[in-house]
Amino acid sequence: MKRMPIAISGAGIAGMVCALHLARNGHTVHLFEAAKDLSEVGAGLQLSANALRCLEPLGLLEELKILATRPNSVEIGNGRTGAHLASIPLGDHAETKYGTPYLVIHRADLQRVLKQAVERHQAIHLHLGCPVDDAMEQVDGVRLIGALPAHLENHPFACLVAADGVWSKIRTNTLRLPPAEFSGRVAYRTTVPIKGLSDRLRTTTGLWMGNKSHLVHYPVHSGELLNIVAIRREEWKAEHWAYTTSTIELRRAFDDWADEPRQILELGENWTRWALCGIQPDTAWHQGRIALIGDAAHAMLPFMAQGAAMGIEDACILAAALEKHSDIPTAFARYEASRKPRVSKVSKQAVNNERIYHLPIPGCYARDLVLRTSSPDSLLSKFDWIYNWKPEDVDLN
Ligand SMILES: Cc1cc2nc3c(=O)[nH]c(=O)nc-3n(C[C@H](O)[C@H](O)[C@H](O)COP(=O)(O)OP(=O)(O)OC[C@H]3O[C@@H](n4cnc5c(N)ncnc54)[C@H](O)[C@@H]3O)c2cc1C
Repeated sequence: MKRMPIAISGAGIAGMVCALHLARNGHTVHLFEAAKDLSEVGAGLQLSANALRCLEPLGLLEELKILATRPNSVEIGNGRTGAHLASIPLGDHAETKYGTPYLVIHRADLQRVLKQAVERHQAIHLHLGCPVDDAMEQVDGVRLIGALPAHLENHPFACLVAADGVWSKIRTNTLRLPPAEFSGRVAYRTTVPIKGLSDRLRTTTGLWMGNKSHLVHYPVHSGELLNIVAIRREEWKAEHWAYTTSTIELRRAFDDWADEPRQILELGENWTRWALCGIQPDTAWHQGRIALIGDAAHAMLPFMAQGAAMGIEDACILAAALEKHSDIPTAFARYEASRKPRVSKVSKQAVNNERIYHLPIPGCYARDLVLRTSSPDSLLSKFDWIYNWKPEDVDLN
């Protein structure tokens, strides 16, 4: 029997990975994206072993490895004093430990690889400039409301997967769930050419911790660019990924930092900022034949660097649930039940990491001592439960 096509709203990271897994399983997919072009906006994302295990079956690993970088370690320092506190081994160590490398990549590079794979697949129809604003579940399928191509208006789909990101319309308009909330934290980011910079900047991830702020940097774009992100508490709000911002303002905010991290900030000239938002993962992730994945279900703060990875895991598991259960509401219920505890735990870990990164004096003295005296592998092994996750171990019964 011919299967009805599946609709996905949002061709971001989770939406495209979901489309590729569904098409691989024999489904026809219509992927609706609000943006007219998939822009080059964004900065770095972490692709840890758990995320790569979901991308591997799609045959994308070799392409990604060329564009991504594989940092040798995470070098942790105190931003105020400039002291080096710990070095968490990645590189060969992480690859041997988890059986898959730990990569970092520019979001635009990941998006390009996914888009090319989507365009190569005959069973995926990508519709750019087609926002989906709402959906209705009817007896014969799910109908979408939005700026759709004429031949798909009033067209019934087997189900709708909403991957429309942190400001999801399907979340608020269709499922009537609470919207994302501003977190009171702002991320400033930039990329600079890496040529001529120190070996440390070219080969490692840096994490500098300060009072209510921190700084992260790592190489991206085949090692040609240094991605720099500074995060601090600030009440500024906007629903936009890349507001241009004044460098003077940013430098002033890190004025009392030590020379080494301040010089890294000085490298950047074209900074943009975005207001970090969050969605509690404990609200519903599906109703009937409409399901949320990625940020639309559980946008999290970036302090565990797992936002994209959780969306990629969701995409892979939702497709697996639809393989296992022919009844769609049952498949979506199993998807939600299997994902929620893990995503909630990762989201809580991100909140906890922020508390540690942003400790003021005197709390930071104890933190720095613990970091100085911990064995490097123990600092990585704390997160084995995140990185050792495998899609094939997930119970969807
Ligand atoms: C432009 C952009 C830049 C980003 N930059 C970074 C970054 O530098 N670092 C970082 O950690 N995270 C960044 N993110 C967020 C990161 O991609 C996500 O947190 C994570 O990858 C989870 O992905 P997602 O697919 O759930 O959401 P996203 O990757 O945000 O994708 C959501 C997609 O849905 C589309 N969309 C929105 N509304 C509708 C609608 N009504 N109908 C159809 N489509 C819709 C959006 O245009 C977008 O393509 C960025 C997201 C975007 C959209």
